[in-house]
Amino acid sequence: METENLLYEGKAKKLFKTNEPNVLRVEYLDQTTALNGAKKDIVTGKASLNNQITALVFERLTHEGIQNHFIKKKSKNEQLVEAVEIVQLEVVIRNVSAGSFAKRLAIAEGTPLAFPIIEFYYKDDALDDPLINEDHIKILQIATEDEIKTIKMQTYKINEALIKLFKKIGICLIDFKIEFGRRDDGTILLADEITPDTCRLWDEKTGDRLDKDLYRKNLGDIVPVYQEVLERLEKIAD
Ligand code: UDP
Repeated sequence: METENLLYEGKAKKLFKTNEPNVLRVEYLDQTTALNGAKKDIVTGKASLNNQITALVFERLTHEGIQNHFIKKKSKNEQLVEAVEIVQLEVVIRNVSAGSFAKRLAIAEGTPLAFPIIEFYYKDDALDDPLINEDHIKILQIATEDEIKTIKMQTYKINEALIKLFKKIGICLIDFKIEFGRRDDGTILLADEITPDTCRLWDEKTGDRLDKDLYRKNLGDIVPVYQEVLERLEKIAD
């Protein structure tokens, strides 16, 4: 039954059909990967933390008027989301230089950027998710010009809302990656997840990394740190 309903198995979650045609069940996995899957480990407790964190963040974004696919949390590790066609883009927005950006352009990690910048990566594991521009997106027919415009506007809005949210809990939002979905009627809306797996979160006071960089760089256990992010978010939840 479960295998019959399985639609997709990714690096950190599984996606299942439900009895409702427009609703999918997402199961978060106690699994973490880096370097496009080359580094992979079981991390007990991560599924439930990310499921809870992304639920709180998406609820907050809904509250701020940002349309997204999140419906509700179903259990510790599962949530229900609206079924949408995922736009094959990883949309990254950066407020402070870090990661691949810092390396590619030799801009020291931690350098604030004069304004938030958006980058697009083509979601294609075989090609190693290459950095692409708006012309590439149109030529590859990943999205139309209007859709790109909507995605960019939404991304700036989401960034503003998240900077505010994380600031309230003493965290500086360095950068993050989001994905968008397309409804049958063509509406574009925020999908996928927003967790410490997909964001760079630095403690405002100590500069401590509260995100997946700990795992990527073998700097320590991510579970207590993700737990800390969840606890801070829970304290300010409505
Ligand atoms: N990111 C992600 N998935 C990816 C690549 C990046 O969620 O496959 C997030 C990452 O956590 C960071 C932001 O996108 O918050 C920018 O990542 P960057 O391009 O600097 O790549 P990285 O240094 O993580 O390889």
